[in-house]
Amino acid sequence: MDSEAGLLAAIAPTDGPGREVHDPATGELIGTVPVHGTADLDRAIAGATNARRAWAALDDDERKATLHRVADAIEAAAEPLARVLSREQGKPLNGPNARFEVGACVGWLRATAETPLPGEVVVDDGETYAELRYRPVGTVAAITPWNWPMMIAIWQIAPALRMGNTVVAKPSEYTTLSGLALAAVMNEVLPEGVLEVVAGDGAIGAEMVARPEFGKIMFTGSTATGKRIIEASAGNLTRLTLELGGNDAGIVLPDVDPAAIAEGLFWGAFINTGQTCAAMKRLYVHDDVYDAVCAALTAVAEQMPMGVGLDEQNVLGPLQNRMQFGVVDRLVEAAKASGARVLVGGEPDREQAGHFYPTTLVADIDPGNPLVLEEQFGPALPIVRYSDIDEAVRLANDVEVGLGASVWSGDRDRAREIAARLEAGTVWINSHGGVHPMIPFGGVKQSGYGLEFGVEGLKAVSVPQVVNG
Ligand code: NAD
Repeated sequence: MDSEAGLLAAIAPTDGPGREVHDPATGELIGTVPVHGTADLDRAIAGATNARRAWAALDDDERKATLHRVADAIEAAAEPLARVLSREQGKPLNGPNARFEVGACVGWLRATAETPLPGEVVVDDGETYAELRYRPVGTVAAITPWNWPMMIAIWQIAPALRMGNTVVAKPSEYTTLSGLALAAVMNEVLPEGVLEVVAGDGAIGAEMVARPEFGKIMFTGSTATGKRIIEASAGNLTRLTLELGGNDAGIVLPDVDPAAIAEGLFWGAFINTGQTCAAMKRLYVHDDVYDAVCAALTAVAEQMPMGVGLDEQNVLGPLQNRMQFGVVDRLVEAAKASGARVLVGGEPDREQAGHFYPTTLVADIDPGNPLVLEEQFGPALPIVRYSDIDEAVRLANDVEVGLGASVWSGDRDRAREIAARLEAGTVWINSHGGVHPMIPFGGVKQSGYGLEFGVEGLKAVSVPQVVNG
């Protein structure tokens, strides 16, 4: 699997129904993926169930070494994987995009391999001895969205395997090639059945989450689907980690240097062409620096090339699908109709074969406008003017979701004070959206519950057992 063609051939359906996959930049046919049904789900669950005992019984060092070998295999296939990802998802090879995503898969696997979760002695006073141990939950269902299809899959799979679980993964129907390609490379190393994949849409996802064989469901996707999964899991009391939608606010204080922060603001909002859960989706800027921040951000936006992912010069790509193009288009049109001022972009070609939406900045927008209050999940950033920080904090918190937020200031202590008042799982200071394999990540409010990454992430894919006596 050392070429893109080899990878695509390895994952093409051999029997059963198939579905064509088209390049979101050009509409060109790039491959075919299987569409799995109940019998395939049964087979995958049986495979993962059969593999469970032997995988859990391995010595911790052996599982750790296996994860490093999986990382080696991904490194060896990095360029073909990045090309498949770029062509299917649309994200360019360059910039913080496809190669970066494949690199993050390697980094996360290695960091997860190196993170131990030993038992803890909680009481040992001569009379009482109690120890807390972390055991595998069994088989984990890993369900992913289409924006970072490889990296998010690894976020779920790596800790699950590290803790001795087996996994049935379900990639998004929009990025099935990427999910299957990644799993095919991982399965060059993993024992049979340890990682199974089911390809299909929400219907097979819904069947999966109602199955009693899963000890845990790791889900990343929309809040609406997350709520359905809670309902479906109730019958079996399946444990859940839910990483759901966000509408992250950035707050810029009056003491910033607009030119110095403009590029950080830009990537905070436009990484992966805005299709990122913890991207900055609304920006509140103090009146004193409002015009200067708008001008500096516009200057950065105008020089960032958007185009076909395989062209090395591009750092922004198309939206992955027409549905998302429609969401961004509707929200920007609503902003325009309200009299908000478009600084750049806002005029998409609706007849194109691809799904490109131009980089768009919208200023002088009402804080109650739908482009501010709804998750646009694309390259359009509303910039709201404020003069009172208490009002900015109130507006930032006045949504149902709470994934991330950021505060931008030359005074770190002041920024930390404001961070403490924001209702978000992570608050970054002078950056937005960066994640790290050792730093816990998760949402509050309707952005979900449970933590990923680091020791907390390992605990989430295990069950505690107290040994008392
Ligand atoms: P989605 O909820 O439509 O789909 C996500 C996955 O769930 C897909 O694999 C889909 O097939 C599956 N699915 C759909 N219905 C299902 C059901 N009833 N039962 C089980 N599975 C089902 O989300 P999407 O549009 O693919 O992703 C975009 C959303 O994901 C955005 O809201 C974004 O903010 C969010 N997201 C969150 C994070 C995070 O870490 N919090 C990360 C990335 C994306």
